[in-house]
Amino acid sequence: MTSNSLRDADIAYTLHPYTNAVAHEQSGPMVAMRGKGVRVYDDAGKDYIEGMAGLWCTSLGWGEDRLVDAATRQMKELAYYHSFNHKATEPGIRLAETLVQMAPVPMSKAFFCNSGSEANDTAIKMIWYYHNAIGKPEKKKIIARLRGYHGVTVAAASLTGLPLNQKGFDLPIERILHTSCPHHYRYGEAGETEEDFASRMAADLEALIEREGPDTIAAFFAEPVMGAGGVIVPPKTYFEKIQPILKKHDILFVADEVICGFGRTGKMFGTETFGLQPDIMTMAKALSSAYLPISAVLINETVYQGIRSGSDALGAFGHGYTYSAHPVAAAVANETLAIYEERDMLGHVNSVSPRMQERLRALADHPLVGEARGIGLIGAVELVADKATKENFDPARKVGPSVAAKAQNNGVILRAMAGDIIAFSPPLVISTAEIDEMFDRFGAALDTQA
Ligand code: PLP
Repeated sequence: MTSNSLRDADIAYTLHPYTNAVAHEQSGPMVAMRGKGVRVYDDAGKDYIEGMAGLWCTSLGWGEDRLVDAATRQMKELAYYHSFNHKATEPGIRLAETLVQMAPVPMSKAFFCNSGSEANDTAIKMIWYYHNAIGKPEKKKIIARLRGYHGVTVAAASLTGLPLNQKGFDLPIERILHTSCPHHYRYGEAGETEEDFASRMAADLEALIEREGPDTIAAFFAEPVMGAGGVIVPPKTYFEKIQPILKKHDILFVADEVICGFGRTGKMFGTETFGLQPDIMTMAKALSSAYLPISAVLINETVYQGIRSGSDALGAFGHGYTYSAHPVAAAVANETLAIYEERDMLGHVNSVSPRMQERLRALADHPLVGEARGIGLIGAVELVADKATKENFDPARKVGPSVAAKAQNNGVILRAMAGDIIAFSPPLVISTAEIDEMFDRFGAALDTQA
């Protein structure tokens, strides 16, 4: 239990993101005080397995001293410097070099921001700037997908295809369009195979492009696995069918690797897992194991050449953040990437993820679970009122949030998403014993849901 003074101060002074402000006045916060490995502890000392790695981000878990030491060293040496007007720092240079070299498809340059939203916002601005620079100013519309999540800044929230991010905010902005969501369980028609469903999704995309005019469409944004939209793993041939359509109409492909990047799906990038050929990649979260905020946009040579000539014509590439390539955040990211390699993090993910997927799929037999799905160390259960018809619960019953709250009481923190979907995305360092403990705690909580 949170002490009264902290609870009262939080209610009095904090507006929480993604929180019902009225309900918060009653419930107050769960105050996390410390963390070790895959666990966090609240201010009463209660331990929780963090089944979401915070917000899909703390890949190395809590208490990784090497990241603390890397930050301390860099802070003592050079706590801050910027990267405007030809300035640079060693950690920023090294990080750009590493990311470009480790990219699974040829990339040319890295640009640094502080969050996934900023990375996607930056990618949009780069795409517009690029098309102006190459003399195609009419090619500006951007297509994302319903239930896709790309962040919350004005443009990134417009890309995001979830009502909660747009209602009340007068979004989306113009020039951003949404195509259908490749969630076969929910949107597949009766008897429609995944293959046929993927073809229909591709046809939907092409119809949208034709309707709008291919010469007006600049880019397509997609997460390899949709995260916040409900952990939606695309049908096998989905991207295989989508990508030629983009190529045919000269549309840039942006892979949003903010969740999938750095091992989550069993390969270093979701791009590799799903055979993508993006022109631009955005990444954040596990880039620094979330110990400090940092994100990156990788662009290929074609995009770079456009921006290069635009910057020359206009005097400079007029975009950048005070904290772009912040040296302390970059030092932590460099150390994170070194740890992934030294400890063979991919090998670890691939050794424990079969257990995660086995335990997840075993939940499909539960009377409340319509579908259990996932890949690597990401997964979800979709709760339904009727397994046969896939009918959703009445949203007013808040079954997903209720299950997540019961799980939290039982010592595992998970996230409920729209449509009563419970997501799992533990730190990549999780062991098989901890995976079992996470599902034991969750299963016991699910059994108490009426
Ligand atoms: N893109 C994806 C796929 C995400 O999951 C998120 C956040 O969860 C973002 C972008 C936005 O990142 P941030 O919250 O760091 O702005």
